[in-house]
Amino acid sequence: MTQAILEVQGLDSRYGRVPALTDISLEVRPGELVAIVGANGAGKTTLMRSISGVQPATVRTLRFDGQDIARATARKRVQLGIAQVPEGRQLFPALSVEDNLLLGTFARGSRQRLEQICGMFPILVQKRHDPAGTLSGGQQQMLALGRALMTEPRLLLLDEPSMGLAPRLVAEVFQHVAALKAAGTTIILADQNARAALAIADRGYVMETGRIIFGGPANALLHDEKVRQAYMGM
Ligand code: ATP
Repeated sequence: MTQAILEVQGLDSRYGRVPALTDISLEVRPGELVAIVGANGAGKTTLMRSISGVQPATVRTLRFDGQDIARATARKRVQLGIAQVPEGRQLFPALSVEDNLLLGTFARGSRQRLEQICGMFPILVQKRHDPAGTLSGGQQQMLALGRALMTEPRLLLLDEPSMGLAPRLVAEVFQHVAALKAAGTTIILADQNARAALAIADRGYVMETGRIIFGGPANALLHDEKVRQAYMGM
């Protein structure tokens, strides 16, 4: 079996004295799209932020491409190739689309990459000089995705890309994510929309109150009665 690009064992995180994540273990292999699903408050965002290093966590093993990153700063993790698209996009609304993209190269990446990203998201070319805040929700999600891709990541962490989007736009954003996977990008996709996330994933993990309660091939989870009832409302 191919060696994992990301290996997490025994990860815990808390907010003050309140535990948010307990004994999380997961792995992601190169080229995989792994979905993390679970209800609101299950701990998906905290997990993504713990992997990117912006959320303090204690962990028994945290390896990226064989390297121990447990004590690496968030910036160092970006330099190694981990990029996060945060929940709620976190753009700079007054800055232009182009400047938001260029900010993505702060720790890693290059200006040349801008044209490639614009090739992937034609809407960003049209709106290149407009303030990011004037874009629709779906367009802002594409911009947030484009900004993370500016770093040419080896692992992309996508947190709740469907948040606040109409179903048609969710489908469009997820098509982009599926295309990135097809082009070889390794992705962790955390989303409350379990059906849409599992539909494009290779494998999935289900989270409940800060723990991973089970995991398996995405297709099996998609058809699992318990997962369907708890997370897909059917
Ligand atoms: P959502 O989809 O709403 O983002 P989630 O699965 O991503 O949910 P988290 O946001 O990681 O879940 O939250 C996990 C737990 O940690 C929840 O009980 C939440 O209330 C708590 N929590 C999250 N952020 C904070 C914070 N800044 N301070 C205190 N508790 C927090």
